[in-house]
Amino acid sequence: MKTSVIRINPQKIEISKIEEAVKLIKKGGLVAFPTETVYGLGADAFNSKAVAKIFEVKQRPLNDPLIVHIADKQDLFKVAKKVNRLAGKLIDKFWPGPLTLVLEKSSELPDIVTAGLDTVAVRMPAHPVALSLIREAKTPLAAPSANLSGKPSPTTAEHVLEDLKDKIDLVIEAGKTELGVESTILDLTQKPFSILRLGGVSWEELRAVVPQVKLAKKEKILAPGMFKGHYSPQAKLIVVEEGKKQVERVKELVHKFLAEGKRVGVMAKGEDRFKYRNFKVKVLGKGDDLRACAGNLFSLLREFEREKFEVIVVEGVKEKGLGRAIMERLRKAEGR
Ligand code: AMP
Ligand code: MG
Repeated sequence: MKTSVIRINPQKIEISKIEEAVKLIKKGGLVAFPTETVYGLGADAFNSKAVAKIFEVKQRPLNDPLIVHIADKQDLFKVAKKVNRLAGKLIDKFWPGPLTLVLEKSSELPDIVTAGLDTVAVRMPAHPVALSLIREAKTPLAAPSANLSGKPSPTTAEHVLEDLKDKIDLVIEAGKTELGVESTILDLTQKPFSILRLGGVSWEELRAVVPQVKLAKKEKILAPGMFKGHYSPQAKLIVVEEGKKQVERVKELVHKFLAEGKRVGVMAKGEDRFKYRNFKVKVLGKGDDLRACAGNLFSLLREFEREKFEVIVVEGVKEKGLGRAIMERLRKAEGR
């Protein structure tokens, strides 16, 4: 198979290009498309064979469920059985946007999508190309991130091609994604309502609507089949938390691994870049610009990987807002 690439300007969507993509979806093909978080790998959620191909090309374990994407609120009822008032409130506030809700699954949705669970994860992406594609396809799209399992999620079409070239039908190219980290996943099927993954919507923002919302315990996240697909780098990754001694600690670690003859890189905040003059440094973003940091995170991790670093020492960011989502991904990459 040869993967085609179509470039679409999100400000001026040419419907003929969307139609080309829709044709492939209708035939049971796989189309990677931009969302505001990361690029997704979409298939018709009601075509089990097409969904099976997603698992196959991503090398994703079949027990790791996919997120279903919709473009209109009424389509929620195609995939979810019940939508309670709280879900309605969250949807009014955060959709379209980077919030995925876990709800009771409708019986019509194929089991492969939800890995056999009786719940479904669903969201409405805030990206004109994604919305147009889903709307024209007239079906919800099952769409995990368009990367190989274990690699960082793709924030550009090039990242998608790096992992999936000639394994999928089409990539719709529309530039770098706005957010750069995945959606926040909120489970509304069990009390206390809990955040299974932090992402584009922060804990603080959710608490303003649902004061009782909790961060899921690690045991819950590590339940069978869940969240194994997070980024796990080839390199050894070490996160040094924010704080007074952060720069010293980073330097100590770099010296230690250099002494062992390792190829070491530093992922630093912009304001600290020149404190590491003799080291190989890549800049995540200014420490107080968490949006920039989130936007660069996966790209930088891919660069470190491409350049065959053996150790990456990372300056942690503030644990608030999007910073929590960034730290959650870094800690998982670290193996914590
Ligand atoms: P991805 O789209 O690749 O970022 O992965 C989707 C994430 O959503 C995975 O980590 C899944 O474990 C999670 N997810 C999908 N469906 C469910 C569900 N029904 N319950 C809990 N988590 C889910
Ligand atoms: Mg993923």
